Amino acid sequence: MTTESSTAESSTDPATDPAAADAPAVVARLRAAYATGRTKPLDWRLGQLAALRRLLTEQSEALTEALHADLGKGPAEAYRTEIGFTLNELDHTVRHLDEWLRPKPAAVPEGFLPAEARAVREPLGVVLVIAPWNYPLQLALAPVVGALAAGNAVVVKPSELAPATSAAIARLLPRYLDPGAVAVVEGAVAETTALLEQRFDHIFYTGNGAVGRIVMAAAARHLTPVTLELGGKSPVVVDAGTDLAVTARRIVAGKFLNAGQTCVAPDYVLAVGGTAPELEAELAAAVRERYGDDPSADPEYGRIVNDRHFERLTALLGDGRPVTGGGHDRATRYIAPTVLTDVSAQAPVMREEIFGPVLPVLTVPDLDAAIAFVNGRDKPLALYAFTESQTTKDRLAAETSSGALVFGLPVSHLAVPALPFGGVGESGMGRYHGEYSVETFSHTKAVLDKPLH
Ligand code: NAD
Repeated sequence: MTTESSTAESSTDPATDPAAADAPAVVARLRAAYATGRTKPLDWRLGQLAALRRLLTEQSEALTEALHADLGKGPAEAYRTEIGFTLNELDHTVRHLDEWLRPKPAAVPEGFLPAEARAVREPLGVVLVIAPWNYPLQLALAPVVGALAAGNAVVVKPSELAPATSAAIARLLPRYLDPGAVAVVEGAVAETTALLEQRFDHIFYTGNGAVGRIVMAAAARHLTPVTLELGGKSPVVVDAGTDLAVTARRIVAGKFLNAGQTCVAPDYVLAVGGTAPELEAELAAAVRERYGDDPSADPEYGRIVNDRHFERLTALLGDGRPVTGGGHDRATRYIAPTVLTDVSAQAPVMREEIFGPVLPVLTVPDLDAAIAFVNGRDKPLALYAFTESQTTKDRLAAETSSGALVFGLPVSHLAVPALPFGGVGESGMGRYHGEYSVETFSHTKAVLDKPLH
């Protein structure tokens, strides 16, 4: 279903499958707009970013309502992790864009002199952004910030599993942004498949690895580069001799945000040495401190996105003994913030990404064992550690590989726009945010200029 484009809608033959019919028309229209060259000047790019800023501020209430309808997100969390987050990313980009687009002089070998060389960023053309449901606004629009800043036309495909936010994006983007160069295509597998048959100049996909493989295979047909922002299990190593009250409060804040449905949520804890019992007690206390005795009554505590994920998650609750939580309500898709102990490393909860409010705590005897545990599994999107020891930090940095390595404050790295955000191995490929987004959505062209005389 194409919601944005009157051109595409009017050119659709209603006798044919609208998903299949719309995709070529949408891409052709954006390609024509891109070919005019109008997306390239800095003024157009900054104008689009200013318009997106207006959208986010003027429509903040409608967006907050949509996020609540889709995921039960409270207004404070919706602002912090979706609207405000995207505004920060946008403002950082606007502040630095001129500097990021400046040609970078390159040294010329003596034998070629006199000559000048530079690396120049140019837009790629028409790019596709495919977004997931868990941060349905942020993960659709933060890549769009980068795509527009780099001077591209962009097709956005929001997640059908967050239908209210998807509809809001489809309604609002064409109203605020250049509708010839920015298109929103709503829909699920059929619509995305039809889009993936088209030739794009970059595909930016956020979601699970199974679909990531489908996206990459489709992109290969056109030799289109991809960014895959995937997930996986992000461990938290808690070293002996750490302040466990502070540690627990910070783990709880990162884990139960969006009811645990965060790609970089702490997935499980590796408690080193004898820290587990005290840490578990502190985690239970931190949950009570943050959400009260009845987290279901806290307007800032979210709900599980749909019945399928609710069933999947409640089945994991039996994989250990709850230190806190364990309660759930099918009707409202509520699952209490839950900490599990006595969990086997082979249990289902330890085999798949949890992506919900369930936190297993496992004990490992020492740092060697923690490092071996992490290295024995897929490279995580984030590795977190709480430690007072510089040696431990150095060892984790040198002996493990992950999309990000964060000490002391899980999840926070994604809100530092000057840091790259992305995975490695099974957790993804490529990176974005700030200048890394502009790099992702640009081609860096080599220019060498040798005078004739
Ligand atoms: P999802 O189900 O919303 O799917 C993501 C997108 O893929 C949607 O737009 C959907 O329409 C599309 N899609 C689904 N099936 C498809 C198919 N067969 N062909 C083509 N397109 C298809 O979201 P999800 O995958 O459940 O998202 C959760 C996963 O995403 C988790 O693994 C999480 O860790 C990861 N994630 C990663 C990041 C990150 O930034 N690295 C952020 C959020 C989520």
